[in-house]
Amino acid sequence: MEHRTARKLARVERSATMALADQARSLRQSGRQVVNLAGGDPHFGTPAHVLEAARDALDEGFTHYTSSRGLPELRKAVTDRLSRKLGVTRDPDREVIITPSAKHAVFASLMAVLDPGDEVLIPTPSWVSYVQMVRLAGGQPVPVRLCADDNFTLSRERLQAKLTPRTKAIVLNYPTNPTGRVASMPELRDIAEVVAAHDLVVISDEIYEDIVFGQTVHRSPAAFPECAERTLTVSGFSKSFAMTGWRLGYVSGPREFVNAVLKVQEHSVGEAGSFIQRGGVAALLGDDAPVRRMVEQYDRHRKWAHGMLNQVPGIECALPEGAFYLFPDISALGFSDSHTCAQWLIDKAGVVVTPGSAFGPGGEGHIRLSLAPPTATVEAGFNRLCDALSTFR
Ligand code: PMP
Ligand code: GLU
Repeated sequence: MEHRTARKLARVERSATMALADQARSLRQSGRQVVNLAGGDPHFGTPAHVLEAARDALDEGFTHYTSSRGLPELRKAVTDRLSRKLGVTRDPDREVIITPSAKHAVFASLMAVLDPGDEVLIPTPSWVSYVQMVRLAGGQPVPVRLCADDNFTLSRERLQAKLTPRTKAIVLNYPTNPTGRVASMPELRDIAEVVAAHDLVVISDEIYEDIVFGQTVHRSPAAFPECAERTLTVSGFSKSFAMTGWRLGYVSGPREFVNAVLKVQEHSVGEAGSFIQRGGVAALLGDDAPVRRMVEQYDRHRKWAHGMLNQVPGIECALPEGAFYLFPDISALGFSDSHTCAQWLIDKAGVVVTPGSAFGPGGEGHIRLSLAPPTATVEAGFNRLCDALSTFR
């Protein structure tokens, strides 16, 4: 047998972020004192009331299948939140599905929308998995290259330049991993007009929706009238509630799309775990003080680390408006590329970072640094990194 694995996987790469997390773990196991600034995993414990709800569910024997759409009370909590916080109205019975992770929600949405060869616009820099997921779903990713010079603005012209008769969808991610950008009202209006004029489907990954700083407001594309009937909105519990290991997310949208996503979900993962969903209900309905405390800490990390980085000669770094990453431009330092810089930082400073190239061609010349580890780790990591880069030339 010549091809024992699927040909379609030949073009799919491993997750760069997950591979780096493995690398950091094995460096530690081998005794190296590395500081990991690569990961997107909040260090906080999951809030106590969420743990308690899941524990109660286990104690009650709530350990069986649920509806494949998810628990009705969780769907209701999700649609109430969408309406209250984002101005997006969806029917909890027909227009939302609880998924095992936001990652699966994005993947199932792409599976539900794409036919072979359909093109999907993916602004870059963007999260590592979108391009690979589009390929897995049989589509053709089309990078829309953004530029640090205008703070990674997704302009009408940049979008229009990449449209073809095969363009079917666009993936948006505000607040953005890795740049920390939050789309402004005029930017979203421009995007909404282009997607409506070309009848595109929008997959909007809003997993960092709660992590915005200062006066910044996150707005959902689905709240724009031109987009409401063409947008699948994805979010989840990993980032807002420090629940990465729970694997819980959701996707909402017009019925036609949600029914298609449901087929993908029913024939792949079935549904999210029953007692896990009970934790999700507590997260959405409970006190949001823990979320505010986490955001306050990311904000302190953001300001401190931004100040540190901008003192290093040759580095330029914008202050992120949301999410929990800094994405400095290191292109003036003289490394041949961001991967070389990342390897050098492991070797010389013992700091693990994500090379910008992991986020597509638009990420080259940058590195991504996480603000999600504990304060002492962030301080140690940025101190080591800034010292090392100050002496590099
Ligand atoms: N989207 C983005 C932009 C992310 O950074 C992540 C982080 N893993 C996800 C989706 C997936 O989140 P989840 O843990 O819910 O799969
Ligand atoms: N989203 C996080 C990151 O970008 C976690 C890893 C992943 O799922 O890719 O680092």
